[in-house]
Amino acid sequence: MLTLFERAKDFGDRKALASNDTEYTYNELIASSDAVAGNLLSGSQDIKEARITFLVPPSFEYTAIQWGIWKAGGIAVPLCVLHPLPSIQYVLEDTQAELVIAHEDYVSFLKPLEATLGISVVPMEEILAEKKATLPNVSSDRRAMILYTSGTTSKPKGVVTTHANIEAQITALVDAWEWEKEDYILNILPLHHVHGIINVMSCALWSGACCEFLPKFNDEKVREIIASGRLTLFMAVPTIYYKLIAYWDQSSQEEQQKMSEAASNLRLMVSGSAALPVPVLEKWRSISGQTLLERYGMTEIGMGLSNSYRGERRPGHVGLPLPTVEMRLVDQENNPVGANEPGEFQIKGPSVFKEYWQKPDATENAFTKDGWFITGDIGMLNDGLYKILGRDSVDIIKSGGYKISALEIEDVLRKHEHIADCAVVGLPDEEWGEVIAACLVPSGEGLDTQELGSWLKTQMPGYKIPRKYIVQSELPRNVLGKVTKNEVKKLFQTK
Ligand code: ATP
Ligand code: MG
Repeated sequence: MLTLFERAKDFGDRKALASNDTEYTYNELIASSDAVAGNLLSGSQDIKEARITFLVPPSFEYTAIQWGIWKAGGIAVPLCVLHPLPSIQYVLEDTQAELVIAHEDYVSFLKPLEATLGISVVPMEEILAEKKATLPNVSSDRRAMILYTSGTTSKPKGVVTTHANIEAQITALVDAWEWEKEDYILNILPLHHVHGIINVMSCALWSGACCEFLPKFNDEKVREIIASGRLTLFMAVPTIYYKLIAYWDQSSQEEQQKMSEAASNLRLMVSGSAALPVPVLEKWRSISGQTLLERYGMTEIGMGLSNSYRGERRPGHVGLPLPTVEMRLVDQENNPVGANEPGEFQIKGPSVFKEYWQKPDATENAFTKDGWFITGDIGMLNDGLYKILGRDSVDIIKSGGYKISALEIEDVLRKHEHIADCAVVGLPDEEWGEVIAACLVPSGEGLDTQELGSWLKTQMPGYKIPRKYIVQSELPRNVLGKVTKNEVKKLFQTK
């Protein structure tokens, strides 16, 4: 990450971050992160890939700590303030960290772990206190960060990236989405996933732009910030756009107009981390005139595919490979598949992670013999652009010899007037292998699953029609807003 720090010096007095109603320059970020590095080194020359975990809400201090760990030669492991203690304990144990830096609000929350894990809880202020040191020479192939996957398919895995990997993840997006120093972005995402930490925060700081933190999503506050006119960019997960639309629907006409006008002035709005339902894209376009740019990525690769910044943004598609990303679609024998045929995405390039933390077998199984990363996501090339069909393990339902994309069925269901949202899963079945089951969130009154069944017959072939339904007021989701399909499956078991 040496390049990031070199660039920061050139941006000097420019505004880098805004948090808690205070603005901070690049020079202030450099000074505070130097102090963090000084305290972490405390006399030694290099902390040599020590895992330094930190539990701090998105803020100036968060960024200074993250940079300071890198400057001292350590591995940064961000923790999530929204997670319960057992999830945090899992990461602390898995990384065998000796240190957790904590915002004052979380010191007593973490204290019990000092005895059970033998870890030191250090208050954030101590680590940010002025301290000078000679910084080590950190090479770009050194391990820099461990981010845990969302845990959608199994227990979260620690994904290790080097400084060079991170730099490649950042520059691919800076090039493709034309980041520049006049940009201003609002971060509403947690910073322990690539979406927040790389796509939003690090791309801004690489570019000399400004990143404002809103520690927790709040629809009214987001509307207010959009209406202020200071944003040029906004990035979020589909659920956030869904919430903004619901908020817009409830607003007065005058407020609606203000929000529409302000949103139309942004140069780019991005959606990712989960499939963007086409109705959400369309509704947001009718509100703001903005066609959301959908992209596809993973903790292991950063971003892989993106719709075009200047060219076509096709609803329901994720575009083409980003700069430096090599991508192929293959069948089970790793042979390339043709256009309009489903295959698995495999990725190569400098942004691809180094390894799963202390899981050599999982790392080996994640790559083909000739070095392609096996994503586990199924997609197809459709008229020149890629489309995601879902995850091999949970979204591709194997029923009666067919391979059926849960995401396609969800797209159809969402078109129904009484369905606000839904999640489709496969449930084990002796006769069919799996049967299709749909968890439905109704919009208003009047959803009748029998009527729905007849309507679906007019929309798709019989083998794709769900056999089981369950109605819920909301879908189970993780902190990124991703539907947790294993939890959805459990809902059917408990019925
Ligand atoms: P785990 O690996 O622990 O099961 P996870 O795969 O959800 O969890 P992440 O790395 O956060 O953890 O998410 C990456 C996944 O998110 C991708 O593999 C893909 O399935 C999904 N994804 C990301 N962007 C999109 C998109 N635009 N459309 C559909 N799916 C997407
Ligand atoms: Mg994954």
